[in-house]
Amino acid sequence: MSELELPRARYLPWQQLQKERLQQQITANRLPHALLFSGIKDIGKKDFAFAFGAQLLCTRPGGGSACNQCSSCHLLNASTHPDLRLVRPEESKLIVIEQIRDLTEWVVQTAQQGGCKVCILFPAEQMNVQSANALLKCLEEPGPDTFFILVTDQPGRLLPTVRSRCQRVEFQVPHEEEAIPWLQSCSDSDVDISLLLALAAGAPMKVVKQFDGDYLNRRARIMGATDGLIQGKVTAVAAAASLLSKEYPVEIYDVLYGLFSDALKLTLSSSNNTLINKDMESFINVISNKFSCTAMLLVIDCVNMCRRAVTGSSNPNPTLLLESLLIKLDELASSEGSNNRV
Ligand SMILES: [Zn+2]
Repeated sequence: MSELELPRARYLPWQQLQKERLQQQITANRLPHALLFSGIKDIGKKDFAFAFGAQLLCTRPGGGSACNQCSSCHLLNASTHPDLRLVRPEESKLIVIEQIRDLTEWVVQTAQQGGCKVCILFPAEQMNVQSANALLKCLEEPGPDTFFILVTDQPGRLLPTVRSRCQRVEFQVPHEEEAIPWLQSCSDSDVDISLLLALAAGAPMKVVKQFDGDYLNRRARIMGATDGLIQGKVTAVAAAASLLSKEYPVEIYDVLYGLFSDALKLTLSSSNNTLINKDMESFINVISNKFSCTAMLLVIDCVNMCRRAVTGSSNPNPTLLLESLLIKLDELASSEGSNNRV
């Protein structure tokens, strides 16, 4: 896929409903001061938040969008609009209280461009309790014409008191008929977009952000090394060395999760209709024949644990983490056989 910088201020084709509902609230002068945009990761919530923020700040919005020509829009495009505040994790993976204290000071200031002020905060679930409590004060006493847009993939991790002060706007996974043409319009190569969208669990922005032109090759290498490992042709340490990637630390875990989940589905249903990795069906058959359901579930659990460790705040040693997973996989492959399946 072509490289796109995200987030961008844009409404995506599958976000019409949300756009129209908010538009009606603006027209009726009933837009609440705090909005919570929620839905699974990578379906364009942040793009929507930026587009909506731009529209609120624009001095000549028309047709339900920012004009892209006024001084406010120029400031936004140059990322120098004084009345737009972004709050997101900086040095740590958390939104810390100092950031919310800064925000509190900004909230009480008068808008410099004479319009409203907009704060976009994401991922909102990365606030710790202290910062969430500090934010509550802002939400309880918003300055005039100040709008907060919180964006989250995990609304359940927000403080209930924060959630209850926001109007929730729910975003759904787009239908293929909407996502595929849009992805085709962003793509400059002949990749199988339908396969990539399935691998991304329907999340188009994941396809754009993570599945670059080499993704399917990297995925094939992961499959090849895993195959070598479970067939006893390479050691776990060698496989880990060949697969460890600083640039794409999570990819190995996502690919393994997908392959083992498919193999489990195949074993349980004896049907290939629901496979996501349709192009790797023969390898999925190998896994399904080699491992019992219990063993596959164990692998999926371990993969999830590793993924959480890599994306969490504990900064584990990536080599040891991957080696330990592959050693476990190797042990299970050696101890399992097609005769002892559950
Ligand atoms: Zn404008």
